[in-house]
Amino acid sequence: MSSAKIWLSSPHMGGTEQRYVNEAFESNWIAPLGPNVTGFENALQSYLGGIAEVAALSSGTAALHLSLIMLGVQAGDEVICQSMTFSASANPIAYQGATPIFIDSESDTWNMCPVALENAIKDRIALGKKPKAIIAVHLYGMPYKVDEINRIAAAYAIPVIEDSAEALGSTYKGQSCGTFGQFGILSFNGNKIITTSGGGALVVKDQELKKKIIFLSTQARDEAPHYQHSVIGYNYRMSNICAGIGRGQMEVLDDHVALRRKVNQYYRNYFKNIEGITVLQEPTADYFSNHWLTTIYIDPVIFGVTAAEELRLMLDADNIESRPLWKPMHLQPVFEKAPYYGGTTAEELFKNGLCLPSGSNMTDAEMERIGTVLDMFFKLKLSEAF
Ligand SMILES: *Cc1c(COP(=O)(O)O)cnc(C)c1O
Repeated sequence: MSSAKIWLSSPHMGGTEQRYVNEAFESNWIAPLGPNVTGFENALQSYLGGIAEVAALSSGTAALHLSLIMLGVQAGDEVICQSMTFSASANPIAYQGATPIFIDSESDTWNMCPVALENAIKDRIALGKKPKAIIAVHLYGMPYKVDEINRIAAAYAIPVIEDSAEALGSTYKGQSCGTFGQFGILSFNGNKIITTSGGGALVVKDQELKKKIIFLSTQARDEAPHYQHSVIGYNYRMSNICAGIGRGQMEVLDDHVALRRKVNQYYRNYFKNIEGITVLQEPTADYFSNHWLTTIYIDPVIFGVTAAEELRLMLDADNIESRPLWKPMHLQPVFEKAPYYGGTTAEELFKNGLCLPSGSNMTDAEMERIGTVLDMFFKLKLSEAF
């Protein structure tokens, strides 16, 4: 292949990351704690508006797992989860031996449908079990319907775990995503809006909770000179090396959000006059998305049921990575026995949607290259129609 690969979303260093990592080496803080971990946590806390405490962990998945443990989720319990998401949102439910109850999406934000959520809660209670938690996801950086979900959760007194792995830098009514749930999850995996190579964080309301999380994530050692344990612990704390990368990344986070939003604007302009293409965008001014990934829905009535895959292959032929939307969890073989509430919104999105290259490090020339393939695609589609 002649042209260089254009990735969906690739790591984008700001420049100071290596300095923090070097400091860790020079001071021999090569450990799952240290000044970079504290510095990264402080930077995240102030970024989120100073209204929450942050514990840096080894991954977003670990953060989700610890949230469920903190809420006392056990074998036989039920936990509600948005169906359209990455499997990491749902896997920790299985780690606890609990049953996921999957919920469809709505078409405004593509996230958890409040109507289906309330139906599910009522039905599960009628069947004899009140769900222990609700895992709602800000998919692709787009805030879910926070007020509606929170209102229902409060009405039935069920805690919300807010999966904000894709939404650092997004806000709802001016408040940072990650701070709405009883627990908020962040991820710094390689393809997220900022990366620590691998890592995550748990956002909580107070210092007591943070202490408990750090206790559990560092093997649950009781205070004693010997190693003594009264509860099961985990090795989930973030490394001081990774946190050094995170500190540098925090310095460019706002720039990255601005750049991703610029990419999104490019696509929105491109598709503006093309009937049958919907770019996921904020439904009202209450929503502010970091536009981690720009995603489109291709109307199958206008373009055919295989159009999304045809476009993906055409981009791939020019060495440009794009990807189908998350395959809903209720359609995954591993979760085929889990109850599901809703209609076919998530399924339709999955069948006809596509994530387009959205990296904050994409050049204008790369955007143009993508534009050229899109031109080819629509020219072909138009010729097919006549
Ligand atoms: C990335 C991601 C996670 C998991 O985070 P890791 O840090 O990769 O463990 C969870 N939920 C969603 C929606 C994600 O995109």
